[in-house]
Amino acid sequence: MKFGGTSVASIERIRNVAQHVKREVDAGHEVAVVVSAMSGKTNELVGWAAEASPLHDAREYDAVVASGEQVTSGLLAIALQAVGIQARSWQGWQIPIRTSDAHGAARILEIDGGEIIKRFAERKEVAVVSGFQGVSKDTGRITTLGRGGSDTSAVAIAAAIRADRCDIYTDVDGVYTTDPRVVPKAKRLEKVAFEEMLELASQGAKVLQVRSVELGMVHNVRVFVRSSFDKPEDIDAHANHPPGTLICSEEEIVEQQVVTGIAFSKDEAQISVRQVQDKPGVAAAIFGPLAEANINVDMIVQNVSEDGATTDLTFTVPAADYMRAKETITKAKDAIGYTRLDTATDVAKVSVIGIGMRSHAGVAAQAFKALSARNINIRAITTSEIKFSLLIDAAYTELAVRTLHTLYGLDA
Ligand code: ASP
Ligand code: MG
Repeated sequence: MKFGGTSVASIERIRNVAQHVKREVDAGHEVAVVVSAMSGKTNELVGWAAEASPLHDAREYDAVVASGEQVTSGLLAIALQAVGIQARSWQGWQIPIRTSDAHGAARILEIDGGEIIKRFAERKEVAVVSGFQGVSKDTGRITTLGRGGSDTSAVAIAAAIRADRCDIYTDVDGVYTTDPRVVPKAKRLEKVAFEEMLELASQGAKVLQVRSVELGMVHNVRVFVRSSFDKPEDIDAHANHPPGTLICSEEEIVEQQVVTGIAFSKDEAQISVRQVQDKPGVAAAIFGPLAEANINVDMIVQNVSEDGATTDLTFTVPAADYMRAKETITKAKDAIGYTRLDTATDVAKVSVIGIGMRSHAGVAAQAFKALSARNINIRAITTSEIKFSLLIDAAYTELAVRTLHTLYGLDA
């Protein structure tokens, strides 16, 4: 059972979480719990580190920001004990959750779940694990897993103790076909395949950290997204289908639709490099320096050269990296050899996702037609086996998402 920041935002909410845990223990389930920091806490801690010094030691950043989860794990253990459930808090280093030493973005390498299993078996002691943190395998220092990382902690712990399921309790009651704030007719999905969820999360749906979905897929941990705002006493711990969304392997999904969901992101920027030499090595000259600068390039579109000598190359980067990307390309101008840079930051990426696309032709073509009927111009397109993405003017994001939601029969 994993509880996110809004679920542990106050002592009252932590007591509510204790009731959810108690319900499952009383029903005879063996559980372990992972918690996030109280909502807003990690932002505050990140802010403090930056205030102390804008350029700070990443090891000390981790020492500071990992503290939010230390507080909530202790508080939940106290709240559980108060309602008669044996409980003990665990920091990442105590388990230990061994990670790489990439401070601020560490990857989990190994977890020994033995002690958690043993204590529950011996005396029904529930482990309350601090999410988001671990300990560097090499240096023994505290690490954190990147923002939103407690989802990943939860799935990793679930894998380590061979749990039947990893329940992610959050402030929404599941994964929707798209953001319900944009499309009120969005539906909650009963089941989503790992691969689809990976795309949804990578393309802008904010329910789960991408890495947690990857881990779930690799270790085949079924992940169930559900709301901690459902009243603990209203839930039947033995029911097969409490409200929520199950993220599972494809084989578990019987009724497969062609399109499962639509994700979108406005945090995109477009850079077009005009009239670059059309010769071997030019793409490398552009994307090499960007990779070195650690900038993730997403969509890439290269035109076929018209005059046989030059071509245009367009790509997108996260809005946060836009300035650095522009600078990097400007610095490499001589090596690349182009005439002009055209850029746009008021763009959005809309992605249509579904494993059913593998066996259906013309899915994207329908979208092009529907968007043109709405006079929405498409700036760039990329496709893969189970997804296609369209770059459009940000002003049309909502209209485009609503149009596609209706087009693919997703409206409730
Ligand atoms: N507290 C951390 C964050 O806000 C980790 C998490 O909540 O998943 O990023
Ligand atoms: Mg989160």
